[in-house]
Amino acid sequence: RRALGSLGKSRAKFISAEETTGVTFDDFAGQEYIKRELQEIVRILKNDEEFQNKGIYCPKGVLLHGPPGTGKTLLAKAIAGEAGVPFFAANGTDFVEMFVGVAASRVKDLFASARSFAPSIIFIDEIDAIGSKRGGPDIGGGGAEREQGLLQILTEMDGFKVSTSQVLVIGATNRLDILDPALLRKGRFDKIVRVGLPSKDGRFAILKVHARNKYFRSEEEKDVLLQEIAELTEDFTGAELQNILNEAGILTARKDLDYIGQEELLEALKRQKGTFETGQEDSTDIPEELKLRLAYREAAVAVLACHLPDPYCPIIETDIKSIRSQPNMRYAEISGRVFSRKNDYLNAIVRACAPRVIEEQMFGIDNMCWISSKATLDASRLAEFLILQTGMTAFGKAYYRNQSDLVPNLATKLEALRDEYMRFAVEKCASVLREYHSAVETITDILLEKGEIKAEEIWDIYKKAPQIPQPAVSP
Ligand code: ADP
Repeated sequence: RRALGSLGKSRAKFISAEETTGVTFDDFAGQEYIKRELQEIVRILKNDEEFQNKGIYCPKGVLLHGPPGTGKTLLAKAIAGEAGVPFFAANGTDFVEMFVGVAASRVKDLFASARSFAPSIIFIDEIDAIGSKRGGPDIGGGGAEREQGLLQILTEMDGFKVSTSQVLVIGATNRLDILDPALLRKGRFDKIVRVGLPSKDGRFAILKVHARNKYFRSEEEKDVLLQEIAELTEDFTGAELQNILNEAGILTARKDLDYIGQEELLEALKRQKGTFETGQEDSTDIPEELKLRLAYREAAVAVLACHLPDPYCPIIETDIKSIRSQPNMRYAEISGRVFSRKNDYLNAIVRACAPRVIEEQMFGIDNMCWISSKATLDASRLAEFLILQTGMTAFGKAYYRNQSDLVPNLATKLEALRDEYMRFAVEKCASVLREYHSAVETITDILLEKGEIKAEEIWDIYKKAPQIPQPAVSP
C-alpha cells in the first residue's frame, strides 16, 4: 500500500484525502435505522467472512439525500472510519469548470486515486452539481462539460467489478429530484438512504453526542436541560443543534461559569434561531423591505385560508410584528372530530405553498428571501406524507414509515409523484393568488398600516374582492 501522502499535490488539489477519518457511528445520533443499514456495508468492506460466505456484495454506490446539516458527510466519514479505509472526498461543484475536458479528467483522477488505495471510499458531496438530469435546464451554464463529467462517473462505476476490495462511492445531495436517473440505476447508486430531520428523541441523542466534551453540573441536570432543548427545536438539523451547544459553551466561558446552565442554553437557542427569527417585538425595528415581504406573506396565507379553508382550523388573526420563518397567522384550536379527506390534504399542500408563491409573484424568482423557504419544506413534507402514509395516491396502498423503506425504483416513483403534487400545488396556489390579487393588496396595505389584522376583516375583504378569472388548474 502506498502512503496516502504520495497523492500528487497538483493533481489532486480538489480532492481531500484522509488515511482514516477517525469518525465512528457513535458520532452520528438519532435515526438509528440508518446506522443499522450502513453497518452492513461496513462489514462487507471489512471483509467479514460471514458476509463473504453468504455471497453478499457491497453496493457500488450509496446515495445519501436530505437537507443540509443533517449529517450526510458525517455518515460517509463514519463508514470509512468504521471500516478503517481511506476516504477521498470531492464536491460536485469542483468538477464543473469553464474549461472543456476538466470535469471528465477530474473524475478520472478521483477514481484513479481511490482505486490505488482500495478498498476505499469516494465521497462526492453535492453530486447534483455534476449529476443533474441531462437535457434539462442548463442552470449556471457548463451543461456540456457537466454531461462529460457525469458520463465519466457512470463509466467509472460500470468499470469496476463488485468485489471486497472495491471502491465504494458515496454521493450526497439535497436534490434527488434533479439527479439523472442513469445514476440511480442498478450497479450504480443502487442504495438510496434518506437522511431526514431528527425527531425529538433524535435531537436529544444528537445533543448528548455534542455535550460529551462539555461541562454540566451533573449527568441528571444535563439530561433534563438537553430534553428541554430537544423539545424546543423542532425542525432543527444536527448541525444547528451542535451550534447551540458550542454557543452555550462560549457564553458559559464568557460569564466565567464552570457549568453550562439553562440560561446559557436558552440564550444560545435564541441566537441560533436568530438566523431565522430576529425575535424583534417592535415592528418599527424591522427594515421596510422585510416588512413589505412579511405583509405580502401574511396576506397570501390569509387569502388561501379563506379560499381553501381548513374546516377544523379557523384563522384568528395575523400580524407583521415579528419576523419568523413561518407565517404569523394564528389559528383556533382544532374543534370537533377531525376526519381529513384526500382533498383536505391537497388543500393543505396548496395553502402551505402560499409564502413561496407570493414571494415569487411579487419579487421575482431571483429575488426571493428566506421567509418563504420553510413553506417549501412544509409543503413537500405534506406531499410526502400523503403519498407514503395514507394509501390514497397512485403510489400504492401500502404504508411506508419513511423514505428509507423504499427500494430504489419506488424512491424514484415517490420523487416523481411528489414533484407532480408540488407542481399542482404551486400552480393552484399561484392561480388563487392571481385571482384574488386585489384582496392580497388590500390585506397587505392594512398590515403595513396597522401591523395586524383579524379574521373578521380578512373574510370581509376576501368576500368583497373583485376577482380576476383564471384558467382551471387540475391535479
Ligand atoms: P450534511 O453533509 O448533511 O450537510 P454534515 O455531516 O456536514 O451535514 O453535518 C455537519 C455537522 O453537524 C456534523 O459534522 C456533526 O457535527 C453535526 N451533525 C449533523 N447531524 C448529526 C447527527 N445526526 N448526529 C450528530 N451530529 C450531527
